[in-house]
Amino acid sequence: MTRPFGIVIHGGAGTILKSKMTPEKEACIIETLTEALYVGFTVLQKGHGALGAVRKAVNVMENSPLFNAGRGAVFTHDGLNEQDATIMDGFTGQAGAVAGVRRIANPIDLAARVMSDSPHVLLIGEGAERFATEHGFKLVDKEYFYTDQRWEQLQAALTREKETSDRKGDLALSEDDKHGTVGAVALDKHGCLAAATSSGGMTNKRFGRVGDSACVGAGTFADKQCAVSTTGHGEFFMRGVLAYDIAARMRYGGMSLEEAAGASVRENLTDRKGTGGLIAIDKDGNIALPFNTEGMYRGYLMSAGEPVVKIFKE
Ligand code: ASP
Repeated sequence: MTRPFGIVIHGGAGTILKSKMTPEKEACIIETLTEALYVGFTVLQKGHGALGAVRKAVNVMENSPLFNAGRGAVFTHDGLNEQDATIMDGFTGQAGAVAGVRRIANPIDLAARVMSDSPHVLLIGEGAERFATEHGFKLVDKEYFYTDQRWEQLQAALTREKETSDRKGDLALSEDDKHGTVGAVALDKHGCLAAATSSGGMTNKRFGRVGDSACVGAGTFADKQCAVSTTGHGEFFMRGVLAYDIAARMRYGGMSLEEAAGASVRENLTDRKGTGGLIAIDKDGNIALPFNTEGMYRGYLMSAGEPVVKIFKE
């Protein structure tokens, strides 16, 4: 019998309402998610590893202005783009991550390079960009990341911020500002798992804020039994070490992937009034895509089936 293999992706969770979506935008999102699925799946079909599959799938979404990662990254309070990314190889247990990088078109590639070509796990800001240049990455101009939609989101957040007197460093975000992070998890033909997440973080973030997408265990985790990538209000995922929490519930509590993912979202997000979702896959090819928001851009393509791409809650 051949082993199951496949890939699951997300393009962010949040208040994604059908009433606010134009048919054109919906079609573009579905097209890009489908392309990402096929790009990742083709790597797996050829017998290559899960690690390459998740990286390539994330690249497709990073290269699109539609998602909050790479090209379409959100703006910080200072009008910059500061991106976070993590990749993890479940077979070797190796991981690489970058935080607060401003001039990298594909942060997930840099995270992969940190994993393969440095003795470290997480590099930040300028240092990460110096590492990038030394390893042949081209630094792009900040204009590369400019999109009208993200700029307008920042302006709206700044206006809301001014109107709120008691803000205590609040980001003054509407639910709309919280989605768009991209991620992928995969199981290859050899039974190996990998996870990758790439994000512009949250609109209007400041003071060098770093989110869960740069934190191994919070936003991304993979071992020999499961791989997880998350999206949503990062602080909740960091406090709950959510991606690892799912693996721990399976390993120490004997839960199935679906039980572990559902319980973790309930206890770490819903019960604490946090929002978001995640994608997960296990070594047997079971998948879970729970979220507690109105929608999550998501899709999967398994060896035994057809591609599935969805946006809204069912
Ligand atoms: N988790 C990301 C962060 O908090 C944002 C998102 O997934 O929308 O940085």
